[in-house]
Amino acid sequence: MLDKYKREINYLRVSITDRCNLRCVYCMPKEGLSLIGHDDILKYEEMLRIVRIARKLGIVKVRVTGGEPLVRRGVADFLAELGTLGLEDISLTTNGILLETFAERIRSAGVGRVNVSLDSLDPQRYARITRGGDLAAVLRGLEQAERVGFSPIKINVVTVKDFNDDETVSFARLTLEKPYEVRFIELMPIGGEKGSDDKYVSNDELMERIGRVGSLHPVESAGGRQTFGGPARRFRLVGARGVIGFISPISHNFCHACNRLRLTADGGLRACLMIDGEIDLKGPMRKGCSDEELEQLIRQAVMSKPRGQCTDAAAEDRSRRKCAREMSTIGG
Ligand code: SAM
Ligand code: SF4
Repeated sequence: MLDKYKREINYLRVSITDRCNLRCVYCMPKEGLSLIGHDDILKYEEMLRIVRIARKLGIVKVRVTGGEPLVRRGVADFLAELGTLGLEDISLTTNGILLETFAERIRSAGVGRVNVSLDSLDPQRYARITRGGDLAAVLRGLEQAERVGFSPIKINVVTVKDFNDDETVSFARLTLEKPYEVRFIELMPIGGEKGSDDKYVSNDELMERIGRVGSLHPVESAGGRQTFGGPARRFRLVGARGVIGFISPISHNFCHACNRLRLTADGGLRACLMIDGEIDLKGPMRKGCSDEELEQLIRQAVMSKPRGQCTDAAAEDRSRRKCAREMSTIGG
């Protein structure tokens, strides 16, 4: 499917739950969130129906996310069903707390790649950032993911000023020993505690810090160009087993290359992470709409994709350039 700006839309991110077993400071308030009612969360079969139709329209990649996807009951069976839909790529984003238990099952269900969110390599600090998370469980999950053959294993690090930005070099050094792709993600003004605007650190600054301890060499694709692996700019330290990626939605937004739609846990199809406006799929489905009608709604979402979070006329109106949703209902 091409959108108005001739971008090929072939990627759908599906948030299967807004529930989470952690409360990361930049994602959720301390007290948690008022959760979506059980009946308002899409059922697995409703999600599968949407993916099946989206597949016909050209969606070939699906990422399952949350909230924390591994806390939703029946997730392994859902992933196995997803695996029968003829997609080229199924991946999962998780905080890794339950990965040790699930790695084997989700691998055999057909998930090719996992991204694990991990913001600190220090157990106490990790517990503070996540408000109670157990770093050792995540590290065991990563080991198990490696053992059962996930490749690549990506580690998402959101940098928060004065909280974990001093660990940039340690994370970069992790790629010397481990075949991981460590990706630094710029903090976005969505969710979490209020007043966190001054917690942003740009990826250019992180690149400079890493550059002081070792040169970063662009990772080339088979075709000789830099591989962006989605929106990431990717590099390798000399002799490293793994790769370092920078995802910079704030300092170098990648809207011009955006290829994605997002399905929220309660059935909203979202054309842009940062600009509100969703097409409700749950209501029509529960009123018995046909596949053709659903197809039309998906096309409508594609055609409503803005040119960019900062470039569209609508987005220039700052009151519309915001995300009223919490990240945990959209899935990042
Ligand atoms: N619970 C899973 C996890 O943490 O990986 C999946 C859902 S989480 C919302 C998806 C990703 O969004 C995580 O990598 C998380 O770090 C990131 N994220 C959440 N809030 C963010 C924010 N305000 N800015 C940047 N990334 C954020
Ligand atoms: Fe939960 Fe993921 Fe949000 Fe952390 S980032 S609170 S793990 S949904």
